[in-house]
Amino acid sequence: MSDPYMPLSSVRSGMGFEAAKGVHGLTVQIVNVYFVQNPSQPHEFVLIDAGMPKSAGMIIKEAKQRFGDNCTCKAIILTHGHFDHIGAIEEILEQWKVPVYVHEKELPYVTGQEDYPPARPDSKSGLVAKLSPLFPRHSINISSHVHTLPEDGSVPFLEEWEWLFTPGHTPGHVSLFRESGRVLLAGDAVITVEQESLADVVIQKQELHGPPAYFTMDTALTSESIQRIAKLEPEALLTGHGIPMTGRNYSKDLSALAERLSAIT
Ligand SMILES: [Zn+2]
Repeated sequence: MSDPYMPLSSVRSGMGFEAAKGVHGLTVQIVNVYFVQNPSQPHEFVLIDAGMPKSAGMIIKEAKQRFGDNCTCKAIILTHGHFDHIGAIEEILEQWKVPVYVHEKELPYVTGQEDYPPARPDSKSGLVAKLSPLFPRHSINISSHVHTLPEDGSVPFLEEWEWLFTPGHTPGHVSLFRESGRVLLAGDAVITVEQESLADVVIQKQELHGPPAYFTMDTALTSESIQRIAKLEPEALLTGHGIPMTGRNYSKDLSALAERLSAIT
């Protein structure tokens, strides 16, 4: 059974946007999904994350508008299994029979074996943090579709991309990186809005932050992952939450964020 529609939203919900060359974004209420186009087959794409509950129609419509009615989704890659990144996946898989890839440490949360731990509403101030115990945290079971990401760091169907292990927010969180354009698909490893604040989420105020604190399992590990991302010297941060930041080298900002987070652990 899929989760019910959640009324939490933002002014950008339903907006599609060109996030980077060959990468199309869509804001679904309070979270972003990304479509990465196959450069040699323009009707083919890989979907990164799967939005909020009840958003399958919105995601599929966006894909058709962007890539054509006969477009083909080749695979879905999940940065992690939180409810706002897998919300529509069961309904999407009813229409697109495609493989889903996750890190092996995230497998228990998408194969019905383990639930995420309870939210921590007092981890940081803010109304979304206070509401977080209401968010679903149970495991889904998409065992018949799910595969682990290749150990060599390659990304299925996306030749130019590599995946990077960025644990902390969850045990098997991954980010994706493309050298060309130095583009990072960050999931929740770093985000560009203060996700704990309802006002900031609604207007999508752009600011670099660590992952949503109420759902982050290990802040020290999160900080290490952000340092690893900083070393890539990304010039486009396409995040799970918030408006992407593009146009310059974000290495120093990321290092400073990692240091701030490690100071509070
Ligand atoms: Zn998350």
